[in-house]
Amino acid sequence: MIVVMRCGATAEETELVKQRLTQAGLGIHESTGEERTILGAIGDVRKLAPETIESWPGVERAIRILEPYKLASRKLKPQPSVVECNGAMIGGPEVVLIAGPCSVENLDMLRLTARAARDAGASMLRGGAFKPRTSPYSFQGLGREGLEMLAEVRSEFNLPVVTEVMAPEQVEMVSEYADMLQIGARNMQNFSLLQEVGRSKKPALLKRGMMSSIDEWLQAAEYILAYGNMQVVLCERGIRTFESYTRNTLDLSAVPAAKKFCHLPVIVDPSHGTGKRDLVIPMAMAAIAAGADGVIVEAHPDPDKALSDGAQSLDLSQLGILSTRLAGIARVLGRTMRNHPGNDPGYQPEAV
Ligand code: PEP
Ligand code: MN
Repeated sequence: MIVVMRCGATAEETELVKQRLTQAGLGIHESTGEERTILGAIGDVRKLAPETIESWPGVERAIRILEPYKLASRKLKPQPSVVECNGAMIGGPEVVLIAGPCSVENLDMLRLTARAARDAGASMLRGGAFKPRTSPYSFQGLGREGLEMLAEVRSEFNLPVVTEVMAPEQVEMVSEYADMLQIGARNMQNFSLLQEVGRSKKPALLKRGMMSSIDEWLQAAEYILAYGNMQVVLCERGIRTFESYTRNTLDLSAVPAAKKFCHLPVIVDPSHGTGKRDLVIPMAMAAIAAGADGVIVEAHPDPDKALSDGAQSLDLSQLGILSTRLAGIARVLGRTMRNHPGNDPGYQPEAV
């Protein structure tokens, strides 16, 4: 149930409404806007009719939320959320580029990639230390050593870091090093992981499961919010279809759809979404055109030698091209790309 307080409702009136909702056994999520306060009452609301709540002093409207996600719903929070990751803002007017290797392989390659990412205007560095691999014989990541490398390179290049956490017991350790916890596609419905990331309060990047509907994805986000962490960014990374040319089918319609129902920022991963290096830049541009708040891409100094996902990794010179393309699209939409000359209204982009 959403309870919209009147403009100018007093603090006492709001307090009384909160008390009554709590007495009815409901949890409360308060969102205070410039003009009015909105209370989200979470729990079994069947006993409380909206008309009863509307008769309480200071209440303008009470609306039942029918969607299974409440805290993630636009009805609770009509304005889009901005998630802050150690200085990087995701969901604001700036389109965000997150780049880095699929896996952290060693310090040298991470440094080279981070330098190219920073020079291209990336806001964050990605890199997996714990890798969910289909085969148990494939490279599984460097674990804690990889996290230490990420932390070192973060301070060298001043780039906040996003990295995957695969299990609830890893959340505490990964949080010591990372600025954002990535929940991978294969773990989107690992409910104990979602709960632990919710309790951790670290910003979270929730990938869409490769066989999950938009509704299931938003309910997975709701888990993290319901366990106390409102800092969630959604990431569309492609779903399984009958098409076999691409690794996945990048469902860009999920971007405006998720944004329609949900206030959380949405970014797109065209690397896993296509599995093919030459498709990454065009699909990244399409993602921004569809309203995404940013893209996360894999990049490697020598993609053909990468220990994972080389075929879909950009080489470092392509990061600059990607950034220029994104700046061009962002400008058309009245958005900007950090540190990019394309922000200047007089800038003439080269032909695409
Ligand atoms: C990754 O980002 O390297 C990754 C494994 O992503 P996904 O969970 O989307 O497959
Ligand atoms: Mn990968």
